[in-house]
Amino acid sequence: MTKWVYSFGGGEAEGSREMRELLGGKGANLAEMASLGLPVPPGFTITTEACNHFYAEGRKLPEGLTEEVETALAKIEALQGKRFGSREAPLLVSVRSGARSSMPGMMDTVLNLGLNDETVEALAASADRRFAYDSYRRFIQMYSDVVLGVDHHEFEAILEEEREARGAASDTELSAEDWETIVARFKALVEEINAAPFPQSPRDQLWGAIGAVFSSWMNARAITYRSLHDIPESWGTAVNVQAMVFGNMGDSSATGVAFTRDPATGEKALYGEFLVNAQGEDVVAGIRTPQYLTEAARIAAGSDAPSLETLMPEQFAEFAAHSDRLERHYRDMQDLEFTVERGRLWMLQTRNGKRTTRAALKIATAMAEEGLISREEAVMRIEPTSLDQLLHPTLDPKAERKVIAKGLPASPGAASGEIVFTPDKADILTKEGHAVILVRLETSPEDIQGMACARGILTSRGGMTSHAAVVARGMGKPCVSGAGALKIDHKAGTMTVLGKTYGEGDVITIDGSSGEVMEGRVAMLQPEVSGDFATLMQWADAARRLKVRANAETPEDARAARDFGAEGIGLCRTEHTFFQDDRIVAMREMIVAGDTQARRKALAKLLPLQRKDFLELFQAMRGLPVTIRLLDPPLHEFLPKGEHEIAEVAAAMGTDATLLGERILELTEANPMLGSRGCRLLLLHPEIPEMQTRAIIEAAQQAARLTGEPVTPEIMVPLVGMIGEFNRVKAVIDAAAAAVNEAGAPKIDYTVGTMIELPRAALRARELAGEAAFFSFGTNDLTQTTFGISRDDAASFLTRYQELGILEKDPFVSIDTDGVGALVRLAAHEGRAGRPDLKLGICGEHGGDPASIHFCEQAGLDYVSCSPYRVPVARLAAAQAVIGRTTASSETA
Ligand code: PEP
Ligand code: MG
Repeated sequence: MTKWVYSFGGGEAEGSREMRELLGGKGANLAEMASLGLPVPPGFTITTEACNHFYAEGRKLPEGLTEEVETALAKIEALQGKRFGSREAPLLVSVRSGARSSMPGMMDTVLNLGLNDETVEALAASADRRFAYDSYRRFIQMYSDVVLGVDHHEFEAILEEEREARGAASDTELSAEDWETIVARFKALVEEINAAPFPQSPRDQLWGAIGAVFSSWMNARAITYRSLHDIPESWGTAVNVQAMVFGNMGDSSATGVAFTRDPATGEKALYGEFLVNAQGEDVVAGIRTPQYLTEAARIAAGSDAPSLETLMPEQFAEFAAHSDRLERHYRDMQDLEFTVERGRLWMLQTRNGKRTTRAALKIATAMAEEGLISREEAVMRIEPTSLDQLLHPTLDPKAERKVIAKGLPASPGAASGEIVFTPDKADILTKEGHAVILVRLETSPEDIQGMACARGILTSRGGMTSHAAVVARGMGKPCVSGAGALKIDHKAGTMTVLGKTYGEGDVITIDGSSGEVMEGRVAMLQPEVSGDFATLMQWADAARRLKVRANAETPEDARAARDFGAEGIGLCRTEHTFFQDDRIVAMREMIVAGDTQARRKALAKLLPLQRKDFLELFQAMRGLPVTIRLLDPPLHEFLPKGEHEIAEVAAAMGTDATLLGERILELTEANPMLGSRGCRLLLLHPEIPEMQTRAIIEAAQQAARLTGEPVTPEIMVPLVGMIGEFNRVKAVIDAAAAAVNEAGAPKIDYTVGTMIELPRAALRARELAGEAAFFSFGTNDLTQTTFGISRDDAASFLTRYQELGILEKDPFVSIDTDGVGALVRLAAHEGRAGRPDLKLGICGEHGGDPASIHFCEQAGLDYVSCSPYRVPVARLAAAQAVIGRTTASSETA
């Protein structure tokens, strides 16, 4: 027979903390505290299985539940020396929801259940009349709202009237008689609306509340919360029924909340607040100012309201001992709730506390040093992506702000600057020393230079994987994309939102971590790598197998990457530097050249520039491996778009050229990733790889001479699908390298490898590995070519696909293990069969995604490569992949 009910209290419990799936988080922890002998008001938990049964059977409670509840109720009565519905010593209970993972405020709660016209008199006799009737009216209000569907505003209106009639400013001025009158009016209201009196039988009340809590699992708030937090409907909620204890029974009573360590800083000190003569919700509601628990905190805050430590020294000492015990028992920082009822301390809740990333690092390292957890456990406690909070400037949480729009949090960090609408203007103003935010409908490759000098990027279109988002993340620059409320008029140089128009030079602030766009400048906190951060990273490094490299082109990025712990460069996209001012002209000359000779002439101008770039890169990396990819993108990306043409057509149609231009932009489907690019481009114009190889090898010679450290460049061929493609490009590389090696010293060893970014390459991996020294998985293109959809278009389709249940996760963020991942596994396996010492890496965006890093660990790759600012995230994720989990156990606020 299924057991539906688990009792706790009086020093024992049928459940335990391991049973959170069945009992919910709250129920499991109450059981655990009871078993530890802590003073927990006795109670019982109805299981999540009962909830699932409830829904499976058309909202009917399971058979046998009544008997089990009666038995459990009798246990509470015995422990408390009270009886449910008794006129002498009535037992009152709370009924609360409690799912496996906490869903704060999403489901329903009823307090003071068991009160009726008779028991309220008993309560009045044993305690205080005013308190009793205040409790009764609170119960009627809550119960009617949650169970009977009477809106709580109806009750508030009555309260307001009664206060006014008595000239009372607040509830505290109302007397016992006043509350009695109010209770009578409340009951009349319920009877009028429901055509039935307010239920007087405590058992009817109890079953009504249990049904309502189960039903609240399916309320709109809970459903939305679940979908936002990936909580499956099948988990269900448990119901906790527990003897009431009162923190509002006069001045020897109190209620409070606490963390065993400071959730903001992680400092090891009991941290919390309380109120004398109050109920739990009063602390959170913010009507009265709570007092500090400890003397130290009171003094630090300069408060003259006494601390619990001085006000109730015995209860404080007992509470401090319990919290210490709970922290050691759970081996994590705890978030606690307690109540003192007439001098007696009761523990109401414990759970792992939410904390900032900074606090999480301090707590994890401190607990490891205290011997409470192992170093590996400490590493597992930090959610890798939460490190982003520390790696970028962030808004000062205390600063005031006026939010004018919200878009997608496309690239973390915050930035303030003057609005500019064109990359050129961004360039000019930056050179004049201004900080600018580049505001665009969306960005394209020609905007790179403008993006590089802007402090942040804001677009009104595009998703998390739009050009703006991807490039900004690569640059480590804040970006808000797809802020649809902004009406951007490039031509007029205006941005309109909420009826206000902003022009060039107006200052805005963007927060790429929240997606918010704010008017004016907002104060920031600069990133800071604290001691705990470094310590934890060392522990992560000791645990991980995968190496971590960075995708970087500029010496600044390379240095940043090294500072963040990168062990090499996994992808230098040579084209990125071609957009810079001094080279775009030569680049365009090269592209439009009518014959090979003219092209060679233009390339000759680019050679010294590239050589200088590579030299700086090699110097910055001081002997660490550097993978340089030969020119990849289609050449049209380097050319301007035809504004004239657009203007002509617009005139003929009698429409506005800007509008037409925007419409064309919206409709244009270009798939340049399938055009003449990658190795096709290199084969079409072999003088390009020839020049680039020369630049690489000559730079390596110079770097070796200057630093005295050998440099072994890894030259990478993009978009290979056939062995013949690779071999031919390799022949050009080898010839060019041989020429340089013959002409100068020292002789440079180099390797030639290929990207695997087409399904065909993965399928022919064994053959390719026969010739290529390394593979680097270009999972951006591999995802595009496997799914047959471009990265930019995927964002809009994905939402639809998720709604339709076709696809759950964005395959451009996390490796799709069934498709792209299967190709990676195949290529890794086949490649190693072809060449046992084949070096395997990944340089697509996925290289910085923790779930994908976990996959790479299992697939046996040698390294992941990601943007410099993701390097610490990748180091941590790589360690966690070895230790065995992808998600951290402690929650980060
Ligand atoms: C890739 O395709 O994954 C890759 C790294 O190359 P790019 O993003 O430059 O096309
Ligand atoms: Mg690619």
